[in-house]
Amino acid sequence: MSIIVQKFGGTSVADSNKILAAARKAIRAQEEGHQVVMVVSAMGKNTDKLIALAKEIDENPPAREMDMLLSTGEQVSVAMVAIAIQHLGYKAVSMTGAQIGIKTNNSFMKARIESISTDRIRKALNDGNIVIAAGFQGVDDNFNITTLGRGGSDTTAVALAAVLNAESCEIYTDVDGVYTADPRVVPKARRVKQISYDEMLEMASLGAGVMHSRSIEFAKNFDVPVHVRAAYSDESGTMIVADPESYERAVCGVAIAKDEVRFSICGVPNVPGMADRIFRPIANRQIAMDMIVQNFGMDGKAEISFTIPATELSSTLKALDEVKSNVPEAYDTFSYDNNLAKVSIVGLGMERQIGVAEKMFETLAAKNINIQMISTSEIKVSVLVAKDQGAEAARAVHEAFELGTTPSDVKPLVKPEMISDEEKIRLINRLEHMEDLLIESVNLDETQASVTLFDLPQEPGLASNIFRRVTEAGIIVDMIVQSSGDKFTNLTFTVERACASAALELANSVAAELGCSAPKTCPNVAKISLSGTGMRSHTMIAARILKAMADNKINIDMINTSEMRFNLVVNEEDGQRALEVLKNELKDVIAD
Ligand code: ADP
Ligand code: ASP
Ligand code: MG
Repeated sequence: MSIIVQKFGGTSVADSNKILAAARKAIRAQEEGHQVVMVVSAMGKNTDKLIALAKEIDENPPAREMDMLLSTGEQVSVAMVAIAIQHLGYKAVSMTGAQIGIKTNNSFMKARIESISTDRIRKALNDGNIVIAAGFQGVDDNFNITTLGRGGSDTTAVALAAVLNAESCEIYTDVDGVYTADPRVVPKARRVKQISYDEMLEMASLGAGVMHSRSIEFAKNFDVPVHVRAAYSDESGTMIVADPESYERAVCGVAIAKDEVRFSICGVPNVPGMADRIFRPIANRQIAMDMIVQNFGMDGKAEISFTIPATELSSTLKALDEVKSNVPEAYDTFSYDNNLAKVSIVGLGMERQIGVAEKMFETLAAKNINIQMISTSEIKVSVLVAKDQGAEAARAVHEAFELGTTPSDVKPLVKPEMISDEEKIRLINRLEHMEDLLIESVNLDETQASVTLFDLPQEPGLASNIFRRVTEAGIIVDMIVQSSGDKFTNLTFTVERACASAALELANSVAAELGCSAPKTCPNVAKISLSGTGMRSHTMIAARILKAMADNKINIDMINTSEMRFNLVVNEEDGQRALEVLKNELKDVIAD
């Protein structure tokens, strides 16, 4: 019999009436002939309330005890849903993460799933029960209760759907699907019928809170079709599948992260290994960094900037203190700014269209919004702006890319094919631990050059001015990184080698107009790209890459990351060696 997993978020089980409504949805699916597994979150804002309660005593409560505390939220809901189903005359059994057998590692508050045993669930289903599983929680090898990180019930649901080879995983929430932007921020956002795993993963990781990004890693790795829909209606919702809604659009959505913190670390000696020294303690704490930019100053020292979510501020401060006490020369000072929002455009079609980043910069310039940092990759462009301009920036960009209108070339909704049980088992066996990262390929690109502009003025319109001219000159840009640290506002971009001198000439004229230092070009750079699913959220990958480069004395000129890629630019002479080093160092996680 086919299995359906239905997940209900906090708002969808916020009171007894909603719990009864959720129960009826599950009963209906069972009546239609499916076996049903429900995954439920804590009722309403219970998780927030529990966090606030702990903070009444300690601002930084111990993580193990937080997991003990927070897991109670879901325990209440599973019992309530089971009571509701039984009250309606059907068989139901509730289970905690530990009772199901969701084994995780011991990273409290952001544990990763290692394995799930299905015996108990299957037995309960075969006995005619609707099984109600507590979302967001698991248990480690020492029977400690763990949680998967905020929003983690989505990941429980997709993981269960994966191991049970469910026909579909339905995510019932307080919106009727995935929109081109958060509809609370961008009222003109449009619901999409389908979105690809890659785009959803990137959107979620960049702030689209409708799905926990790790749930999409699961969905992609285990081929689980995910159906996001409203708990309050029968609207058709959004399918998250391998095939996107439309290939023709460069941009599929806008994501906004309202609470970003940018760190600038000054006076980092420009010798291989320093980035690793700084980033490892951060990665060890499983803090996912984004927008990593390294600028070189005239004094031979570098300034490293990166962003983290505001929730990671205190752990990042601790990590940097640890760096300073272990390696006093690693940096001189650091500062941070937590008054920022990150606005990103995401789209698989971006790689094939020129002028996408430029259009975003131009839109923000027209609104007089200053861009404080830029980082691009094949599938996204992210900018940092002042927090109070984040929503305006998102709305403007959404408008500029006409995301509110339905494209004419939308493909019909294709029901994804189920994969066989044997294939699923093969997939599951492939990963020793279910959430392990698999790097699909490591590539070397020796066709690019880089151009850097130094000491740029901090004002709206700067990036737009530069990239409008670059686009007009027919120069195709690949990577762009700009950071405004304490000392620098530098901007580096890569272009095809044939365009290097034209790009430098253009940079020279911009620099002369703005009265800043002479731009620099590296006519031959090598770009190494590592592709996988969840490259950014598996924080140790960045740390391992940086360490491998450091151990082999290879200097990294540029870094950019997305969930799908980790790109680094090195000197051409080091390119081949860097490729070999990475292939060797990461062989345990590279697919054969
Ligand atoms: P749940 O409790 O059901 O897990 P969440 O609050 O985690 O619900 O996620 C739903 C919310 O995600 C919506 O209310 C919406 O404000 C927000 N959201 C952010 N980005 C998007 C998007 N692109 N599409 C739809 N909703 C989004
Ligand atoms: N209750 C948890 C939270 O609020 C998990 C979830 O809702 O997905 O983060
Ligand atoms: Mg959620």
